[in-house]
Amino acid sequence: STAARQSLRIGLIPADGIGKEVIPAAKAAILALGSDIPKPQFIDLSAGWETFTRTGVALPQETVDILRQDCDCALFGSVSSPSRKVVGYSSPIVALRKELDLYANIRPVVSVAPVVGEKPSVDLIVVRENTECLYVKQEVQTVGEHGKEARATRLITQRASQRIGQMAFELANSRPRKLLTIIHKSNVLSITDGLFRETVRSVPTLPEANGKYDQVTISEQLVDSAVYRLFREPEVFDVMVAPNLYGDILSDAAAALVGSLGLIPSINAGDSFVMGEPVHGSAPDIEGKGIANPIASIRSAALMLRHLGYTKGADRLDTAVDQVIREGKVLTPDLKGTSTTNEVLEAVLRIL
Ligand code: ATP
Ligand code: MG
Repeated sequence: STAARQSLRIGLIPADGIGKEVIPAAKAAILALGSDIPKPQFIDLSAGWETFTRTGVALPQETVDILRQDCDCALFGSVSSPSRKVVGYSSPIVALRKELDLYANIRPVVSVAPVVGEKPSVDLIVVRENTECLYVKQEVQTVGEHGKEARATRLITQRASQRIGQMAFELANSRPRKLLTIIHKSNVLSITDGLFRETVRSVPTLPEANGKYDQVTISEQLVDSAVYRLFREPEVFDVMVAPNLYGDILSDAAAALVGSLGLIPSINAGDSFVMGEPVHGSAPDIEGKGIANPIASIRSAALMLRHLGYTKGADRLDTAVDQVIREGKVLTPDLKGTSTTNEVLEAVLRIL
């Protein structure tokens, strides 16, 4: 299906802050891939805080419609969040995940060792369910005998657990180690986490799996001990799959293992759409200075292309970025260098 595409239509939503500086770099890197992907067409779209201050909506309907009708995928930059709560404003990224049913958040965390063999290399992917768990935001406060009481609903469904499980098995199966670790806390939350764990575990036995995942080794780990091991021996992990809340925490914890936020990519993926998004925020402290690290965005583009089946293009982007980091000559200040966004981009383009 992917190979049959005449042209790859990519929505670009730089949004706010350094998103405006790093998303153009990702676009340039994709263009440099030439015929490794079918004729990319870029469509500029708006969303974010600045859009909200201008138009009164953070996510214009037009942006959603064009993404749905005219795009195969998209790259999202970052949004500035207002420091206080603003009436009518809500995060466009959360809304986009809902509108496009992007139920998986996938975040690879990879360390590039300065000297080969010097440090145990981290090479793992956190696959986070992105639609339910505690984040369904069903909270109530009541008054009980001893004062205020607050409750939150935690929703885990078989459907959502199954589809995130399928995506995680698919990813694990595509990697050399083929190891999937299910993260849960079913010793305490036996009903909710129990359902998640059982459902993910049974993915290989589904009729549609049809033996596809026979090579995947399944392991599991309680979330607390998973965080401990992540810091002690991150090399033991390959693909980790978790419900929303644990996945949120794990993916930030994993990010801390490899230095700058400016390096870490992600995708938000559903069955019919995928959106790349660097993990960092709008970085108001360096906005407009031209020194934001474009690597997280270039890697997000690579991850998006890989998800769509363009493995060769994705590999070329990742290899070029790895080489620039390893050479260590052209790096932005977050990596202790003195280069600009454009100089890093140019170094990547030269390799490509
Ligand atoms: P937001 O409110 O948009 O999330 P933030 O203040 O939380 O913004 P982040 O974008 O999350 O900021 O960044 C945290 C720190 O990491 C900041 O000091 C920022 O400058 C730095 N940082 C983030 N992304 C990059 C990048 N791509 N290149 C260089 N430094 C970065
Ligand atoms: Mg932030």
